[in-house]
This record gives sequence, structure tokens and C-alpha cells, in this order.
Amino acid sequence: MGLLAGTPFDRPPHCERCDRLESECTCPPETAKSNLVAPDRQTARLAVEKRRKGKVVTVISGLAANQNDFPALLTQLKSFCGAGGTSDGDTLEIQGDHLDRLQQKLKQIGYRVR
Ligand SMILES: [Zn+2]
Repeated sequence: MGLLAGTPFDRPPHCERCDRLESECTCPPETAKSNLVAPDRQTARLAVEKRRKGKVVTVISGLAANQNDFPALLTQLKSFCGAGGTSDGDTLEIQGDHLDRLQQKLKQIGYRVR
């Protein structure tokens, strides 16, 4: 007979976030989210670059992919500009010259912008 029987230590594992049984927990899996850094502690650098065939893209650098939710951020920026975009490592690219708009938007989100 274990001393712990019937004590809280005998409780099946519960999720620390929702306090449900882990088998019933529907929280999203632990991802790199714990590495997320507040936007106001990051500085984004924006530049408009010309690519081959005269294509112009607005490049956002200075943000680390593992400190931000890049897929969500990219979606937000793309829909804000009504343009396509991609992320490549620690860089986000939005098609077209959206320098001013993206500066405003990133500031609005809370990033420092240089
Ligand atoms: Zn949970």
C-alpha cells in the first residue's frame, strides 16, 4: 500500500493549462510558443528589393522565426496588403512595394520598426 494512494499525487496527469485530464486535453501541442518574444522587444527592418524580371518585394528582416508566430504574422500582413508573400528563414517577404503600409501595420502590432 503506497503512502501516496488517495493523495493528490495519485491524481492522473492533468494539463497545466486547462486542468483537464491529459487524455481529454484539447490544448494545442507545446510548440515553440514558449520561445515567443513580445513584439515591443523586437525591431523589424523593412526594405524594398527588386528581384529578377522587375518583381518588387518588401522584405521584413530582424525578426527571428522561432520568436514569432511567422505563419500567423504572414497571413495578417498578406491580407493587410492584399498581396502574396512567403517566409524564408528569419525573413518575411510580401510581394510589391508595401513599405509604408507594413511599417504602420507592424507598429500597430507592437513591433519596433527601423
Ligand atoms: Zn490542456
